[in-house]
Amino acid sequence: GVVLQKEKVDLNGGWQADDPVPYAALVKAFSLIEATPKRLEKTALLTTFFLLILQRSAIGDSKSLLQAVYLCINRLSPDYVGVELGIGENLLVKAIGQSTGRSAAQIKADFKKEGDLGLVAMKSKKNQKTLFKAKPLTIPFVFSSLQEIATSSGHASQGKKVSIMVKILTACQGFEAKYIVRSLEGKLRIGNAERTVLVALAHAAVLAEMERDQAKWTPHELVNRLDEAARVMKSVYSELPTYEKVIPALLEVGIACLHDRCKLTPGIPLKPMLAKPTKAIGEVLHRFEGMDFTCEYKYDGERAQVHKMEDGTIGIFSRNSEDMSKKYPDLIEQLPRCIRASTNSFVIDAEAVAINKSTGMLMPFQHLSKRKRKDVRFQDVTVHVCLYAFDLLYLNGEPLLQKDLKKRRALLRQHFQSIPGEFDFAKASDSNTIDEIEAFLEESIKDGCEGLMVKMLASDNSYYEPSRRSVNWLKLKKDYLHGVGDSLDLVVVGGYYGKGKRANVYGAFLLACYDTNTEEFQTICKIGTGFSEEQLQTHYDMLKPLQSLNIRGDIKAGGAQPDVWFEPKIVWEVLTADLSLSPIYTAAQGLIEERGISLRFPRFIRPREDKSAEDSTSPEQIAEMYQRQTLIESKRNTNEIGD
Ligand code: ATP
Repeated sequence: GVVLQKEKVDLNGGWQADDPVPYAALVKAFSLIEATPKRLEKTALLTTFFLLILQRSAIGDSKSLLQAVYLCINRLSPDYVGVELGIGENLLVKAIGQSTGRSAAQIKADFKKEGDLGLVAMKSKKNQKTLFKAKPLTIPFVFSSLQEIATSSGHASQGKKVSIMVKILTACQGFEAKYIVRSLEGKLRIGNAERTVLVALAHAAVLAEMERDQAKWTPHELVNRLDEAARVMKSVYSELPTYEKVIPALLEVGIACLHDRCKLTPGIPLKPMLAKPTKAIGEVLHRFEGMDFTCEYKYDGERAQVHKMEDGTIGIFSRNSEDMSKKYPDLIEQLPRCIRASTNSFVIDAEAVAINKSTGMLMPFQHLSKRKRKDVRFQDVTVHVCLYAFDLLYLNGEPLLQKDLKKRRALLRQHFQSIPGEFDFAKASDSNTIDEIEAFLEESIKDGCEGLMVKMLASDNSYYEPSRRSVNWLKLKKDYLHGVGDSLDLVVVGGYYGKGKRANVYGAFLLACYDTNTEEFQTICKIGTGFSEEQLQTHYDMLKPLQSLNIRGDIKAGGAQPDVWFEPKIVWEVLTADLSLSPIYTAAQGLIEERGISLRFPRFIRPREDKSAEDSTSPEQIAEMYQRQTLIESKRNTNEIGD
């Protein structure tokens, strides 16, 4: 409350009711948010800013709030539309140079010192003498300019992008250039996790309602309402992850009725439910003791969320909510044959797996990865795909997320039919002794799967939890039972030049995990094994354009000193023998103890093109793996564990 009152004055500035929101007000909020490490203060500051927008916007204007929210999370559209920023270093240097009259060499030298092009742009502008003051930037102007930059493509697009960037940078005052450049890079780095934005939106809506109705709530009542609003907002957004629908509904019906308005809707992908790793069957039995659970084959393909909309259109979305409908024209053609007549709209959760059409055998993921990712023509498909459905989330106008898995699975089997080589239900076994699970695990491997998914079947909390890594779903990967239980997905942030035969490529790489709370990449290991010569060349070709001699401000390097740094974009799946505490690397520092955690004998498995850098393994997951490893070691030492 104190923070709210104090900063309200500051953020207010000269901003008048019904005016477009000044970009300066947002930037002021960003600076204050960046300056505090405390999550509660970040939330309060953002709440204040959103509240001001609600108070100053004309009634019925949801656009100002929508654009402000997008700028706060550094996005320009929902994930499935995929309008993204991520302008490379060279183009940004060019734009900063043109707008400030400085040379590229000067800017690059400053960048090397500062590690943040945003700061360099701001300082370059500060030292620049200008004859006249440009018109202040507004949120609608900045938003539409960023959108234009992100969507311009084709031959002359580079020049167009630079000229729009120059136009905005020329008009920047104070701290504005710093955040504009960071937005353009695709990383705001103020520690504004999406969770914070959702809570702040909910809180602002409650406070606006309190003011409007002149409600006299006690502090206790207010706190309860704020907590409940945050819970509702998070749950609504996990079902319908698009601000384009949630914000107008919030302004129209308020937080109390938001859930009635915003439900899972075919055509809008939800973030999938995820599983926790396990190292042993004993661990699975321990977790599900006395409960109803099921084991399913864990297919080795690509997650596919399949939507049939009310108008009959079928859409397929990736684990990351990207629209994959153009990648799988064959699946779209196959699907209608698998739908029973009584089904007109649905959302199913499934795995798309490459198969050999003549033998019906499952092919490993490497085979699937040979398919083109975009604009595949039906007649060109050579890698055939079968869809293995394991969940039904929506059926004929009704979301099923709150039903238990037993009911969802029964509905799935009732409304769809298996067609060999095209569509099937994930093979399942509800038996639950160690021996039976062991046998089913072996069978899954024989049939070309990675292992098993073990899921809570019927209980009060076996509902579908979008975007959660839940203990109600456990993954048991055969290959990893003797390692740390799972592979890790890590971002390539640095490279070491090779020696001898490998002199023209990178011979080893620095990997990092990603902390969504601090928006930082934390280094975890150097990896140099598991690569063929051909792979090293491919990695070199892919990483070279992302190379920089400067470390970005959001990479927490610790003692790691690679020869070059990379823009953190590429994610690799990596296996490790075990995890150890490290004085050099920074992953999960402070979670187990002051030292970070590192991988011992890391080995490259494959690129994870379906994951963005922000989806890589989190420090919390790494700390959990480390803890489980030490727990199991100590049990083994005292002979408590058999399998
Ligand atoms: P994570 O972030 O959990 O590591 P991931 O995408 O790397 O996610 P995996 O570790 O391979 O996933 O395990 C979960 C994935 O397994 C799901 O995202 C899905 O793509 C796949 N999968 C295959 N079969 C099933 C099944 N029967 N039920 C659920 N998921 C399945």
